[in-house]
Amino acid sequence: MKRKVAISPVQEGDVDAAVRRAVGLAGGLQELVKSDSRVVVKPNLCQPQPSGTGIVTDARVTEAVTRMVLDMGAASVVIAEGSIASFDGESVSTEECFEVSGTADAARRLGVETRYLNSDAVAEVAVPQPLVMDRVKVARTMLDCDVIVSVPVLKSHIRANATISLKNMWGVQPGAAKREGHRRGLDLAIIDLLSVVRPAYAVIDAILALEGLWRYPEDAQRMDLVIAGNDPLAADIVGCSLMGMPVARVRHLDYLARQEGAVSGLEQIEVLGEPLEKHRRQFKTAFDAFLEAFPGIRVLQGGSFCSGCVHEIVTALRHMKNAGYEAEMEGLSIIVGNPSQPPAAAKTAVLGSCSETLAGFGAYASGCAPPEDATIEALCQACGADPETVKARRDETRRQWWESTAALLLR
Ligand code: SF4
Repeated sequence: MKRKVAISPVQEGDVDAAVRRAVGLAGGLQELVKSDSRVVVKPNLCQPQPSGTGIVTDARVTEAVTRMVLDMGAASVVIAEGSIASFDGESVSTEECFEVSGTADAARRLGVETRYLNSDAVAEVAVPQPLVMDRVKVARTMLDCDVIVSVPVLKSHIRANATISLKNMWGVQPGAAKREGHRRGLDLAIIDLLSVVRPAYAVIDAILALEGLWRYPEDAQRMDLVIAGNDPLAADIVGCSLMGMPVARVRHLDYLARQEGAVSGLEQIEVLGEPLEKHRRQFKTAFDAFLEAFPGIRVLQGGSFCSGCVHEIVTALRHMKNAGYEAEMEGLSIIVGNPSQPPAAAKTAVLGSCSETLAGFGAYASGCAPPEDATIEALCQACGADPETVKARRDETRRQWWESTAALLLR
């Protein structure tokens, strides 16, 4: 049976009506939300930004979803989020994110509690079939509820290529625990996390979506849409399609689609409401936007290129630049994803198992994705930089970050 995902336009600014229409078309919430249900509504409030910038979920969408759940007589409803903890800076105040986005006002209007997951009680849970994390730390609120409704905003992502309703669960890990999965490979870490805590429903804010590097307003894409579905994976696949992003480029979605079999692509999804084709755009990926900051570097991408290697390339290039090797990086070519026509360039690195047959074209790092150290070593070897200097600089940056985080936690 096909999964149902609905796309509803926001007409005359009536977000509440658009959310109700999308949820209704997708089959409603009545199968999930009962009178004894404890429901968590989980928006994306990663940064202290206002609604309408595309960086965070528009508070009007969160409010409309929460009101629907309240109207159904759920036993309890909370709006919960744990904002980002960056590599180089301090943990962002989730409370501030609620206030600045307008979500706190929405919760006050509805008489609903807000929960700051970075300071919630923490449970450490074993991952049943671990890929990269044997155990995950999860905010207790997310485990003690019956239903999670993920309410993300539609946008690109520098490491995962897209962040929609399943990636939105990353915020349920408390504070610095969010960083650990980034180090181990974000996409597979997302899958480990989802095996422990997973949303049952998705309502996606695609009113103002973001492409590229989330710069507002230059990366904004006004779509005026709300997407809903009782299979968040299916809803995310539709979200990807609206962004012109092949699911194969979003590794955690591609992995789940292949693993679970129920939804492996748009063919298994019945799209209701607005026709997908009418609204499909071609978003610039965050990775392409990132590379614009390195005009002297060429990335030759084959069809297998996915976010596993995106993550490694972004991390390695950033650390090489921080270590002072920008001049050496000029003219570097990176072969990834098994392209059919690799270049004959002096400075060439070949990354990842899927490009193994092209290893002879340059310095090679194996693995799927290659480990961070191996990626740094291959890129450094290709352009004559010292990998130990880069790794030392990286470790120092991370040490400083941990110290600043520890100082915050001890306050
Ligand atoms: S080696 Fe290929 S398939 Fe594996 S993460 Fe890299 S690009 Fe993706």
